[in-house]
Amino acid sequence: MAYYSAVWVTVHLYAGLALGAAIPAPWWALTLIVLASHVLLDLVPHWDYTRTEHPVRYGALDFGAAVLTVIVGYVAFGASVGLLALGVISAAPDFDVLYNAARGRQGDYWWPSHWKSFPHGSCAPLPGILTQAAVMAASCLTLALV
Ligand SMILES: [Zn+2]
Repeated sequence: MAYYSAVWVTVHLYAGLALGAAIPAPWWALTLIVLASHVLLDLVPHWDYTRTEHPVRYGALDFGAAVLTVIVGYVAFGASVGLLALGVISAAPDFDVLYNAARGRQGDYWWPSHWKSFPHGSCAPLPGILTQAAVMAASCLTLALV
């Protein structure tokens, strides 16, 4: 079975935070880099919740985890607003995935790496979830080291 899939919002957020923290570049270049990372991560074989029985529930959890990460990053870790904005920008293209999941449908994607013609990386749930967990772990490690 082929799975249509989008990388979780939270994974894109962490990747954007890690890239923003690790790469010394002006904000405009970092904005382009984190948006490019969104496209590249959508190529990596992964699995997500948009075709489960409960896409709205999982989408809400995913979005909630992203919001909680931003709040904790600011309050507990003292992350700058600029760095947090890069994480949000990295994840923002998935708004169309969340919007469609909330409406219980697929389609109407505006971000190019969500279009049907884009070569989405897709795989079965276990390796797909482990792949996303590995990206988050690498991002957290990067954030801890920089
Ligand atoms: Zn995406």
